[in-house]
Amino acid sequence: MARVVILGAGFGGLAAARRLRRRLPRGHEMVVVGEDDHFTFRPSLPWVVLGLESVELIVRPLRPALERLGVDFVHDVVESIDVFRRVVHLRRRRLPYDVLLVAMGADTDRAAVPGGERYGFPLLTPDQALKARQALAGALGEPVVVLLLEGTGHLTPAYELALTLARGDFRPPTRATGRGLAGRKGGAGRRAVFRVHVVTEELKPLERCGICVSRRMERELHRAGVTLHLDARAVAVGAGGVELADGRRIQAAVTFLFTPYLGQGAVLRSPGLGDGRGLIDTDWTQRSLVSQRVFAVGDATAFPGQKTGQIAEAQAAVAADAIVALLEGRPISRFYRPQVIGLLELGGGRGLFFRHAPVWDPRADIALAGRWPHLAKVAWARYFLTRYF
Ligand SMILES: Cc1cc2nc3c(=O)[nH]c(=O)nc-3n(C[C@H](O)[C@H](O)[C@H](O)COP(=O)(O)OP(=O)(O)OC[C@H]3O[C@@H](n4cnc5c(N)ncnc54)[C@H](O)[C@@H]3O)c2cc1C
Repeated sequence: MARVVILGAGFGGLAAARRLRRRLPRGHEMVVVGEDDHFTFRPSLPWVVLGLESVELIVRPLRPALERLGVDFVHDVVESIDVFRRVVHLRRRRLPYDVLLVAMGADTDRAAVPGGERYGFPLLTPDQALKARQALAGALGEPVVVLLLEGTGHLTPAYELALTLARGDFRPPTRATGRGLAGRKGGAGRRAVFRVHVVTEELKPLERCGICVSRRMERELHRAGVTLHLDARAVAVGAGGVELADGRRIQAAVTFLFTPYLGQGAVLRSPGLGDGRGLIDTDWTQRSLVSQRVFAVGDATAFPGQKTGQIAEAQAAVAADAIVALLEGRPISRFYRPQVIGLLELGGGRGLFFRHAPVWDPRADIALAGRWPHLAKVAWARYFLTRYF
């Protein structure tokens, strides 16, 4: 019987653990390692900024959820992986494995633009969402910049923030907005509209998600009064806004920062495992190119293009099936077919559903806007959290 170790308990790690536990005989040991003992449903962070969702609803303890699945949870930090000896070096112990799945997500480079670390507001954790919320509350009526740096994997949340702030979805904290109101359009609280600038190095908004969604987004930004600065490179972020490479300055009281992806330090410290950025190259079965017994999914992979929780879950299903086949001595027969399926907030209680399959189905791009994609996003958040927690 084998020991399967999953590193990371985010979208990819949880989905793989669930599928593997259902498909592998109980005799196989399954261990999930996570440096946080809580899971955060990051797609809801923009709602936390706006005051439409409470942190308690989107942060859940991991151990009981995994134990219910029949999976051991080790709360520890991965320092490095020795793929040649099949051992994970944790901060407190060594953990040998027979098969390894890396789902540790990615880090981001906050130092990518001077002043970014000091003056920019990232949006990766609940604390950061609450800090941004506080900053916005102190800047009502002032301009806001949403800055997307080259190489960011978080394009859709950036545009969600821009549109919802421009369309008056922000509820200042002075009014109690209650818990989990996103599904009911935010209740009766006072609303604040911001003048929003989006600064991006893209030539068209969201162009990596396909032409349909890009055109739709351009129209939505125009209608919402968002000023779009395309093909624009920021060279500095300061207390008063953003300075661009062409010499322009864009004034802003709050600058949201969507920084480039970097691999995790643990991968960078693992000889042979990652590329120069610390991201892991895989084939279409999600198996690493350097070891037959290592798989990788989600933001941790070197797979080009947009990265999302939906992609991490889809890749996790493929990797889990491949691991089962490997342990049963069968050939691997399932492959990941890249596609992005997204639900994106447009503000004012509307949303956008889109699908983009660049490699195998380029003509099947869809972008549908309306009230239902917003409701579907709310339902997805509830469904996801109920399914695992
Ligand atoms: C604001 C925002 C909004 C988003 N909205 C959407 C959306 O609407 N739809 C969508 O599909 N996606 C969305 N995303 C993207 C989505 O959150 C990510 O793509 C997804 O979380 C990637 O899943 P993952 O499993 O690869 O990594 P993660 O979810 O990042 O999980 C990584 C796991 O690894 C653990 N870990 C990391 N390093 C170590 C270490 N050294 N030792 C031990 N454990 C470690 C972490 O604690 C975590 O448990 C959004 C992201 C952001 C920031």
